[in-house]
Amino acid sequence: MVASEVRALFAVASRPEVVSLAGGMPNVSALPMGELGEIVQRVVTEEGSTALQYGSAQGDPVLRERICEVMAEEGISAAADDVIVTVGSQQALDLVTRVFVDPGDVVLCEAPTYVTAVNTFAAFQADIRHVAMDDDGVLPEALEEHLTRLAAEGRRAKFFYTIPNFHNPAGVTLTAERRRRVLEVCRRHGLLVLEDNPYGLLRYGGEPVAPLRAEAPDQVIYLGSFSKTLSPGFRIGWALAPSAVRAKLVLAAESAMLSHSAFNQMVVRRYLATHPWRERIKDFNEMYRERRDAMLGALEAMMPAGSSWTRPEGGFFVWATLPEGLDAKAMLPRAVNARVAYVPGTGFYASDEGRRNMRLSFCYPTPEQIREGVRRLVGVIEGETAL
Ligand code: PMP
Repeated sequence: MVASEVRALFAVASRPEVVSLAGGMPNVSALPMGELGEIVQRVVTEEGSTALQYGSAQGDPVLRERICEVMAEEGISAAADDVIVTVGSQQALDLVTRVFVDPGDVVLCEAPTYVTAVNTFAAFQADIRHVAMDDDGVLPEALEEHLTRLAAEGRRAKFFYTIPNFHNPAGVTLTAERRRRVLEVCRRHGLLVLEDNPYGLLRYGGEPVAPLRAEAPDQVIYLGSFSKTLSPGFRIGWALAPSAVRAKLVLAAESAMLSHSAFNQMVVRRYLATHPWRERIKDFNEMYRERRDAMLGALEAMMPAGSSWTRPEGGFFVWATLPEGLDAKAMLPRAVNARVAYVPGTGFYASDEGRRNMRLSFCYPTPEQIREGVRRLVGVIEGETAL
């Protein structure tokens, strides 16, 4: 296990004079704080004897019903029995890896991919292989190539990990047509898909695309989370898995943590029952759209020739590529001196790729701060090209 570059950055990036385009923190100040306070109080006074007791490792059955309603928003039909609540979707990543991966097993994931997933796979000594992507998401033919090569070596991958919507860090979305092809390739090779979808409901442009799980229930383990649509502070996510897998995940969860926080689950389930959460997500999407537009507008106006970036239809992230010859990791200390922070692209690969790349988050700073952040960043990039 190695320290994540993102975590190490948080200390620096949180200094008030730095515009942080680094962290992927949702803007929790937009939450209905007064109402959440009342919910917390009611859970204690009206349901305290359950809320303050041990719960189960699979999670509160009422919350699991509500989670099915949340997934239905994206076209997934599922039974509460097949859902396991997890400590954020991060714990689901850990449990799935714990259940499936032995040291040396191959795990396929996108290039780049979510940094903490890489760290989890690495902690279980997986052999991590990156599959190329473009602006439409992962390339099915590249996935096929990996699988054919592995078969020729007499090896099989344990699963293919994908973030199809508003990818972290790439910002792109896997098209419907590619989803079908990815599922077809995986079906032919008998490969399980691990679909990580914490941002799916945060769409503020383009047309929704059905999750892979909606098309192929038996082929996919699906991960969801309340971290971006409500709050990461509750640490509640979930996995939806074929029942044999789900039973193993529950056993793994029991040994990892005995039981969930019944209290946190009851607060969230009450919020989902009493608050117009769908409307609230629409409000969040307005806010995030304004921030995304501020970032794309600033990049368009200021970035030097030779650079490029993705144009997300939702979520929190833009993935930028610097002009040839520049190194985003080496540049970071100079950027922090200029009071702007980002995450260098190298952190999102198990290999040494991503030197010219950086992840820029627009979820947390205000539109004015984003424009100022990009202005500072461009100043640093121009300084590098002049070196
Ligand atoms: N997967 C992805 C792609 C993410 O971006 C995140 C949060 N940064 C997570 C999983 C973990 O989220 P949580 O554990 O808070 O649900």
